[in-house]
Amino acid sequence: MPRSILFVTLDSCRYDAFVEARAPNLKSISPLYRTQAPSHFTYGSHAAFFMGFTPGDASRREPYVNPKYGKIFRMRGGGHPGEAPPHITLSGHNIIDGLKESGYRAIGTGAVNWFNPQRPTGRVLTADFDVFNFTGGANLRAQLQWIDSMLRDVPAGTPSFVFLNLAETHVPYYFNGAPWDPLPNPCVAFGESNDAAECRRRQVACIEWCDQALEPLLARFASDTVIVCADHGDCWGEDGLWEHGVSHEKTLEVPLLFRLAADAPVQA
Ligand SMILES: [Zn+2]
Repeated sequence: MPRSILFVTLDSCRYDAFVEARAPNLKSISPLYRTQAPSHFTYGSHAAFFMGFTPGDASRREPYVNPKYGKIFRMRGGGHPGEAPPHITLSGHNIIDGLKESGYRAIGTGAVNWFNPQRPTGRVLTADFDVFNFTGGANLRAQLQWIDSMLRDVPAGTPSFVFLNLAETHVPYYFNGAPWDPLPNPCVAFGESNDAAECRRRQVACIEWCDQALEPLLARFASDTVIVCADHGDCWGEDGLWEHGVSHEKTLEVPLLFRLAADAPVQA
């Protein structure tokens, strides 16, 4: 049986905040790579991820760290083939569809509005999953419980593709029970009373809280392929800009970690 796949996106997580955070569970997955996201907002980056264009460091001639050189997921017929063989080659119209064709159960959960299946805009990223859970805000504990319940229903011998987009790292940088109020949001686009130091303090604390919460899920996928990245960063006052949705060095710079299981299905 092919190994299962866990793909986690820490929405809006800046690379420098991730470096600063005490996140032993996430940081034990692999070396941490400073990469560029394919877009500066949620939809653009996830649409690219689901087509095999994961974050990359274009300066490295190294597969997977640089998806131009070699892709983790390579869609047949989509884009430059790369210098190195892909980890997994897939048919279908995106990696969700392709993994389902390869026998995977596709389980997805998202926290930000681009993953709201009730909206036409949210259907694009969610429709291909076998099951999808939308939380409508930061609620990682509920997402993890839902994933556990869905994995219980996966028949023995069926690999799973679990996708998790979490929003604790998204503005206003808050987790359930955090020792600060979610509002006022210290990072408002065009805002006049933003606070870069408070943004950093909160996002680092949110990464640390998520790292603890994710420990059992990461343990469950210890022998499987695991990919963790951000979909984009945020600006914290650089060049007068705040939040994301604008093309800037700080909205494109993201952390990437991955560990690929050796026996992935490589299609002919
Ligand atoms: Zn996002």
